[in-house]
Amino acid sequence: MTAVSDRSDGIQNRLERVRKRIEDAAERAGRDPGNIRLLAVSKAKPASDVAELATLGQRAFGENYLQEALEKIRSVPERDRLEWHFIGPLQSNKTRPVAEHFDWVQTVDRLKIARRLNDQRPEGLDPLQVCLQVNISGEPQKAGIMPDALKELAEGVAGFPRLRLRGLMCLPAPADDEAAAREPFHRMRELAGELDRAGHTLDTLSMGMSGDLEAAILEGSTLVRVGSALFGPRR
Ligand SMILES: *Cc1c(COP(=O)(O)O)cnc(C)c1O
Repeated sequence: MTAVSDRSDGIQNRLERVRKRIEDAAERAGRDPGNIRLLAVSKAKPASDVAELATLGQRAFGENYLQEALEKIRSVPERDRLEWHFIGPLQSNKTRPVAEHFDWVQTVDRLKIARRLNDQRPEGLDPLQVCLQVNISGEPQKAGIMPDALKELAEGVAGFPRLRLRGLMCLPAPADDEAAAREPFHRMRELAGELDRAGHTLDTLSMGMSGDLEAAILEGSTLVRVGSALFGPRR
């Protein structure tokens, strides 16, 4: 067998295993697995891996680093049929290419960034789909809006016509076991509920990665962001 088909078997098998993990966790949670989307996080992986996963039916891809992402998007033949999510740190001087080349941004945590994305979203495209990143573990050095300031940010973002507020995203501090991993995800669900009662119609809770997607699904995740379990370890 050639190296190429070895690798393609690898991706297909890993995709099946990840889908099975999602189904099993949904079953434990008493949820419909159809309500949990898989975002394939392709950072540090080549465009050929993205193309291969796309041929296996995977549609949504997440990228963290702008320059890498723009080059990759350009070189994936199926790019227009795919859904591109920006999930990395976003500086205000880098918003324009994100507004022009992505369908979703999951890492909005300041009104200034949201305003720039709104102003720079091209007229011919659908509104940019936005998740607010929440600093759910309260880590001072980490990105994300603090929970006590979330409502005000949501109000502001919801007012921008070229953005559509879809939900919340988090990247909690690592936990030792599933019970501990569930705690921040549980608080996220409560925060989403508060926004819902304040009149925001959110349909997305972006939480869970390769190591903790079960905990996230048990707490209501609707979008798991999976990198290494799909593409293999990153160097
Ligand atoms: C890298 C990354 C992921 C995927 O992490 P894995 O552990 O490889 O699944 C998910 N979300 C964000 C924001 C990331 O940066």
